[in-house]
Amino acid sequence: MSCKRVGVLGGTFDPIHNGHRDIGLAAAEEYELDRLIFMPAGDPYCKSDRQVTGAEHRLAMTRLAVASMPDFCCCSDLEIRMPGRTYTANTLLELKGSYPESELFFIAGADSVLYMDKWYMPELIFESATVLCAKRPGSDMGLDAEIDRLNQKYGSLRKTAPILKLHTREQDISSTRLREMYSAGEDISPYVDQRVLEYIKENALYD
Ligand code: ATP
Ligand code: MG
Repeated sequence: MSCKRVGVLGGTFDPIHNGHRDIGLAAAEEYELDRLIFMPAGDPYCKSDRQVTGAEHRLAMTRLAVASMPDFCCCSDLEIRMPGRTYTANTLLELKGSYPESELFFIAGADSVLYMDKWYMPELIFESATVLCAKRPGSDMGLDAEIDRLNQKYGSLRKTAPILKLHTREQDISSTRLREMYSAGEDISPYVDQRVLEYIKENALYD
């Protein structure tokens, strides 16, 4: 299938939650994406301070969540199959090879965008894809100024602005909080796909 506008949402997805689903679907609607790829990270280098759940479990949960999304959504194991650390710049280069005719969009929350200039090879990221930034509670301080700065700094790499905003409802939800809630015996079913919750239980991921 040939896709003109391909969105990628990368994350640790430990676990994938409705916030991820909603920013992805909002990006697809606002920017008319015809493919939305959820991409669990293999070895997220920025999370080396804590034990991340095994890639196979995070991939399985992402697949389960994607199964209840519309057909244009899919899950890719590209980053998990890549050896070594996960770098978005490399992922986007790979995807450019797989979708040579497409325009790529990288969907990210505000907390990620605020650090993106410190990621590996930011110029390659901004050259390869338009970043679509979703607001996130607690990450609005200095966000507009940082987006303006990045758009100035990397604007010459492309015809359109490197970063565009998503105009979607903010959601106060994070995987960290969900893991904590789950271990404390609280109900996380309003925030995750039902099958993902069953998977978490069956595999005792966050007990
Ligand atoms: P953790 O607490 O483990 O960091 P997380 O909820 O931030 O988990 P990630 O897998 O780190 O989830 O996030 C993947 C991407 O989704 C990141 O770009 C992040 O900014 C974005 N994201 C996650 N949750 C939200 C949310 N509630 N609103 C906006 N963006 C979000
Ligand atoms: Mg995060």
